[in-house]
Parts: sequence; C-alpha cells; structure tokens
Amino acid sequence: MLRSIKQGPKYRRLTRHFHGVQALHQMKSIFSRAQHSYAQLPQEFYQKISPQVSTEPKLIEWNQPLATFLGIELDDASLRQRAQVFSGNLQDPKSIPLAMAYSGHQFGHFNPGLGDGRAHVLVEVSGEDGKIYDIQLKGSGRTQFSRGGDGRSPLGPVIREYLISEAMHALGIPTTRSLAAVETGDLVYREQPLAGGIFTRVAQSLIRIGSFEHFAARGQVKHLKILLEYVVKRSYPELDPRSDHLPLEFFTALSERQARLVAKWMGLGFIHGVMNTDNSSAIGITIDYGPCAFMDEFDEKKVFSSIDHYGRYAYQNQAVIMQWNLASLARALLLLYPESEQESAAQTFELKLQDFMACYQEHYARVMSMKLGLEEKNWRQHRELIKIWMSYLQKHHLDFTLSFRNLDFLLSSEASFPQDELLKEFVKVWKAQLFQEEESIEKITKDLHRSNPLYIPRNHKIEQVIESAYQGDHTPFREMLGVLSRPFTQQEGKESYSQSPKKEERITATFCGT
Ligand code: AMP
Ligand code: MG
Repeated sequence: MLRSIKQGPKYRRLTRHFHGVQALHQMKSIFSRAQHSYAQLPQEFYQKISPQVSTEPKLIEWNQPLATFLGIELDDASLRQRAQVFSGNLQDPKSIPLAMAYSGHQFGHFNPGLGDGRAHVLVEVSGEDGKIYDIQLKGSGRTQFSRGGDGRSPLGPVIREYLISEAMHALGIPTTRSLAAVETGDLVYREQPLAGGIFTRVAQSLIRIGSFEHFAARGQVKHLKILLEYVVKRSYPELDPRSDHLPLEFFTALSERQARLVAKWMGLGFIHGVMNTDNSSAIGITIDYGPCAFMDEFDEKKVFSSIDHYGRYAYQNQAVIMQWNLASLARALLLLYPESEQESAAQTFELKLQDFMACYQEHYARVMSMKLGLEEKNWRQHRELIKIWMSYLQKHHLDFTLSFRNLDFLLSSEASFPQDELLKEFVKVWKAQLFQEEESIEKITKDLHRSNPLYIPRNHKIEQVIESAYQGDHTPFREMLGVLSRPFTQQEGKESYSQSPKKEERITATFCGT
C-alpha cells in the first residue's frame, strides 16, 4: 500500500514541493533589486498563492539581455535552476507570488469576476532605467480566479506570445516583454492533449482598465482611489498624485497614450484580436497576446480571432473600441467624485473622450506620414494621400508590410505594383510632396526603410515554429526570434520570413489558446 502511494502522482507532487521548499532556504535570491509594492496593497487586490508544480520543467528560451537589465543574477543558477524558478517549482526567497484581481467587459458584456486565472506575479524588480517591472508567470496553475479553467497553457501560445512580444518591442511598440519560456513536462488537455508550457512576461505594469472596473462594480471607492494613486505614482511621473483633479488627469494621459499605441498598431497592420477592457492596459502598453495577428494581405475589415463572430475587434475598429474601453474607464472613475459633482464631471470626461478620436487621427496620420517617407510634422497635408494609398492596398488586397517596404520601387518604376488610376494618382501626389520635402533619393529610401519593417511575425511562420516545437525542435523558434530582433534590416538567407504566405500556408483564424 505504502509503496503504491509513494509511486503515485500525488506523492511525487508532494515530494517535489518539499524539495522546492527545502531549496528555498539554501538558495540566494536571483532578484538583486526586488520590490513588492503591489503585494502591500489591500488584500482585495490579489490572492497570494503559489504556482502549481510542473513535472519536469525545461527551459526552452531565455532573454539574457532583458534579465541583465532587470538585475537578475544567475551566477550560480544553472539552466535547470532557471527552469525551476520560472516554472514556479522553486520559490525564490524574494518572491511573493500572487494572482491579481480584475474584472472587465468581454465583447461588450461586463464580467465582474475575472482576474489572473492562470498567472502568478512572482516579484517586482527595478530595471536599469529605475522603473519598476512586474515579473509574471503565465500558464502556472489555478488560482481563485480560475473559474472552470485548468490554469495551464499549451506550449503553442507560450511560443506565440514570446515571439510576438519581442517582435513588437523591436518594432518600437510599447509592450510587455518576454523573459523565459519553459516546457512543463505535463500534458494539457484541449481538443487534444498538448505539451504544456509556462511563459514569463515582464511589464512596467499589468494593471488594466478592468482593474478600475473591478472596484467600481463593487462600490469600493476607497480601493478605487488607492488603485488610481498606485498607478499614477508608479507609471505617470508627469502627474502629481495629490492633485484634486487626478482622475481626469490620469484619464487624459492614458487616452493620449492609447491613441498613440493604437495608431502604431495600425501602422503595422497589427490586430490585437481581444480588446476587452481586461486586456487594455492602464498605462498604454500592448498586453495579452491571445488571438492577435499581423495582417498579410490588407483588408481593413480583417478579423482573426475565431471567437470574434461579429468583427467587433476588426482592424479598422480598433480606435473606436479603445474609445469604448476608455468610456468604461471613465464610468468607473466618476465614482471618485462626490455625488453632487458627478454629472458635471461626466460632461468633462465626455469631452475628453471626444478628444481621444481627434488625438488618434493625428497620431495615425503621423505614423502613416512617416511610413510614406514624409515629414511627420506636415501630417495634416498628407491625410488625403494616405487615404488614396490605403484604398489602393484595399482594392488589390496587397500585402500590407511588403507594399510599404517596397515603396522605394515606385521612385523609379511602377511596374512591380498593380496598375490602375489610383496608383497613378497616388504616385503623382506622393512624389510631388516627397521631393518638396526632401531632394535626395538616398535619404528618402533610407527613411522609407527605417519606417517600414521587412520582417513581422507572420502567422504562417509562427505556426511552423510551433509545429516544430511540439515535435521537440526549438531551432526554428530561436531562428525566428533572431530575425525579428532586427525587423528593419535585410538579413541574408532569411527571405522566407519576409514573404507573404503561399495559398496553402494561409492562416485565417487565430485562437486564444487558453
Ligand atoms: P485571457 O483571454 O487569457 O485574457 O483570459 C480571460 C480570463 O480567463 C482571465 O480571467 C484568465 O485568467 C481566465 N483564463 C484564461 N485561460 C484560463 C485557464 N486555462 N485556466 C484558468 N483561467 C483561465
Ligand atoms: Mg486577458
């Protein structure tokens, strides 16, 4: 009897946990600049809970430059030890693992009970830039917020998020970053059994619009105020946390950041895919890479997410949806005003919301101006031209990334683009504008190549990398990461990463992968 218990899975789990706790006393922390600001907030903000144990965690990718930036010291930490810490099997002495509480609107419907159902913040550290960063495991087991889910993640979504986050960073987009990817050695059951994985992400903050809605929905005004001050102190150095107008000032600053962010997404043909308010950052970074995708052939109505039946989160809707999300935030923030002032405050927020769209339009025109090799500061004059170019891409369903990248061809010949009146009109106005602003063709070409990447994480390539990873081969993952780390520089022998998919390679839908 004893023998069979000893060999059973429960026993193995217990002993493994025991080994973990043992090592905790001997281990020197790898986090040289650890902090715990969020863990000091009231208990309604989180559940303190350890990650679940994985059977045989193996490190498959590690971001050393980011680790160095974050002051993670690994002198005595072997590859195996890293796998232990970043799977959650081994608790670093400075880690206070917790799952964050939040709510949110999903596809327009409020869900009061979300929260990290499969993620654990391990610790905060200060980076070389003096800012605080959260280090969080994703796919690390159940928490009180898991509801029906298993708290786990297959390896595929881990690799997807790792690749896309780092690509976004290299493309200059504010985003969460990738620190580690681990294979757990356990199977995760979805439509079929799949190898499990844990992703470690790093963020200047993981607080979402849904975090504000969480306390507003519960009428916890005191906590709402604490959250606001926390976010401002940590992520808005330009604001005074003691200001009487803090809710509005924060709202204005976030709106501006989000307007800029969405404009940048649009400039890359990036579709977030699940812009629920729980996936919209309170500091204006890209978070939660679920069913997101970069477009191949341009279609402004493009939707990837397999659960987005009505196209709510289509490419062209992203700014309107962000405005909708900000309206939800405004409703939550209004609770911070005394009841007698709420109506007039609502009107002020309403005006700010309208400013969002104007602000977005400006950033969009600035981004697109640069992509056309034109002066950003003259964005007002370029709006018509941008429209013509986009309708030309739309009409012919041209590859978004390559059409911009190859714009310099049009300086000498139009032969490589489909011929029509739109193109003629575009080239005429574009050239006139270009040469009015800059005379040297070399300089124009350089500007165009600096604003238009050659390599984006194309879906069909990601799928190939994931396929190999499930077969145990991580070489393609590493190679793709390398290519995407220099998206604007042509790299020899890497043509397959810049080409649009062949017919049989096309991916038409993406999945959350939860
Ligand atoms: P996401 O789409 O990943 O942003 O998740 C939305 C919500 O579902 C969050 O509250 C997650 O924590 C939760 N969730 C997603 N996947 C799982 C899972 N496998 N197990 C438990 N909770 C999950
Ligand atoms: Mg989410």
